[in-house]
Amino acid sequence: MAAPNEYKFFEAVEKSFDIAAKFTNLDPGVLEQIKQCNSVYRMYFPVKIGDKIEVIKAYRVQHSHHKSPCKGGIRFSLSVNLDEVMALAALMTYKCAIVNVPFGGAKGGITIDPKKYTPYELEKITRRYTSELIKKNFIGPGIDVPAPDYGTGEREMAWILDTYMSMRPGEIDAMGCVTGKPITQGGVRGRREATGLGVFYGIREVCNMPDVMEKLGMGTGVEGKTVVVQGLGNVGFHAAKFFREGGARVIGLAEYEGAIMNLDGLHEEEVFAHRKKTGSILNFPGATNLAQSTDALEMECDILIPAALENVINGANAPRVRAKMIGEAANGPLTPEADEVFVKKGVLVVPDMYLNAGGVTVSYFEWLKNLSHVRYGRMEKRFTENMNSHILSQIEELTGKTVSDKEKEFILHGADEVDLVYSGLEETMIGATREIMDCWKKNPSIPDMRTAAYVVAINKVGTAYAELGIFP
Ligand code: GLU
Repeated sequence: MAAPNEYKFFEAVEKSFDIAAKFTNLDPGVLEQIKQCNSVYRMYFPVKIGDKIEVIKAYRVQHSHHKSPCKGGIRFSLSVNLDEVMALAALMTYKCAIVNVPFGGAKGGITIDPKKYTPYELEKITRRYTSELIKKNFIGPGIDVPAPDYGTGEREMAWILDTYMSMRPGEIDAMGCVTGKPITQGGVRGRREATGLGVFYGIREVCNMPDVMEKLGMGTGVEGKTVVVQGLGNVGFHAAKFFREGGARVIGLAEYEGAIMNLDGLHEEEVFAHRKKTGSILNFPGATNLAQSTDALEMECDILIPAALENVINGANAPRVRAKMIGEAANGPLTPEADEVFVKKGVLVVPDMYLNAGGVTVSYFEWLKNLSHVRYGRMEKRFTENMNSHILSQIEELTGKTVSDKEKEFILHGADEVDLVYSGLEETMIGATREIMDCWKKNPSIPDMRTAAYVVAINKVGTAYAELGIFP
């Protein structure tokens, strides 16, 4: 595997872009504009940690301004560098375009190991980072809206919100300056599990396509399929959960300290609890330990879900991967060299920038909720329930039959916020899957699904530029 500092992530994104650009009719100047990162902000700021002053390095990159605001997560990790943030910002642009989320792409990161700091120190770092963004006008509900990413979560988003609100008092839409917030701080129900659920909806839709499944030598549907998930963070955990609930068998789980397998199936909640108790995924009762964490990637299975970091499957280990389908839940887990291997082997790679778009899709719902200042379902829930109740009683009266209490509960139920969020996400993921597959079918010389996804995205961003009147 290439050492992280040797791997050029932004170049890999550019490479995929260039392959796809050939399948569009856009002007070379437009393509060049789409490719570039529009604004790059690298900052250093001091934070007092204990009795020492630490100089912290951080970034925010806005890849595209073809729509406002820009949108993308903030990563806390020692591996954060400019190349990585640029690549991830670019992927956000394409991701938003594919799922029709009207934002430009962005990404931020702080080069720290969050495990080395106390919550108080992390709060100081996060708040100072937010102040730096405010100073340079790099954050705001109509400018640039961060969200969680690797190493951050609801807690960090709440700190960002509070810092923003205290420095911009009276700004009526301030809540929309960041997404992925706790529910009590303007978050939306369903955001936490959104990326994992979106991965499940996307793969399920592919599995429901008989022609695609036939080529892969598998039956249709998710039920009964064997799944391996690498990474038991928020995305991997929820992906495993929804696959298990959807009737698949999760036979392998990997974390950085090791991997485990059980051909009868693993329950992610039990594994998570075991890891919390013992500090490791290994030695889970009933499962077999694998020698190395990366061994899980090479297990024989129907669907492999890399859900951790970039560059985990590359030219070196791709030939040993035995999955029939790979669903990229992480950003950039496969290198372009790995893509080439899988095209030759006939393995279907379902690409990151659409498959893990569930997070930003529900972030969009959260942002809309913040701008409208009302919870989803508040206006219509009772109305729907009253109407359903009326219809049901009419049916019962006319037919002389009564439905069971359990059925009644289901029929009468008006949509809650989480129902609407799930439904919006399901529709988005199904729609995007079909659009990409249709594009691929219309142009069979497109080599893989990633290229088809890029073609869809590039065309949408190119059209937006044309509509802005920037290009004749
Ligand atoms: N960090 C997530 C991603 O890479 C979510 C971004 C967002 O919600 O803005 O897609």
